[in-house]
Amino acid sequence: MESASSAGGGTQFLCELCGITAPFSYYGQKPPGTRAVVLLEECFLMKDPFRPEKEKFLILGSSCSLCRRTVCVGTECSLFYTKRFCLQCVSKHLDQFPQQIQAEVAKKKKTSSTR
Ligand SMILES: [Zn+2]
Ligand SMILES: [Zn+2]
Repeated sequence: MESASSAGGGTQFLCELCGITAPFSYYGQKPPGTRAVVLLEECFLMKDPFRPEKEKFLILGSSCSLCRRTVCVGTECSLFYTKRFCLQCVSKHLDQFPQQIQAEVAKKKKTSSTR
C-alpha cells in the first residue's frame, strides 16, 4: 500500500469491472471551460492529453445507474441505454432491455467466453 496523499492532487478513476485506472480532472455533466457541452450523464472526464490547448475532454467512465459502481465506457464494461449500466447489471436485468440490446449482449458473450 502506498500513501495516496502524495498523488499530486489527482483523483483516480477506477473501473470496478476491468480495473483500469486513470487520473480524471472532472466529474459531472458539464465540463468547465466548454460552452456548449452538456453530457447525457454525469461522467468522469479527463482533459485530452494530446490537445491541451483545446478544451477537449475524454470520457473515462461513469457510474452504473443501478449498482452505482464506477465503470469505464468500454464496451466490455458498460453500455449506455438512456442511462449508464454496467454489464453485470445488464445481464441481470437483460429481459428489461430492448431486443436490440439483448442481441448485442448475446453477441458479446459469445465472443468473450469460449463455450
Ligand atoms: Zn472497464
Ligand atoms: Zn451495475
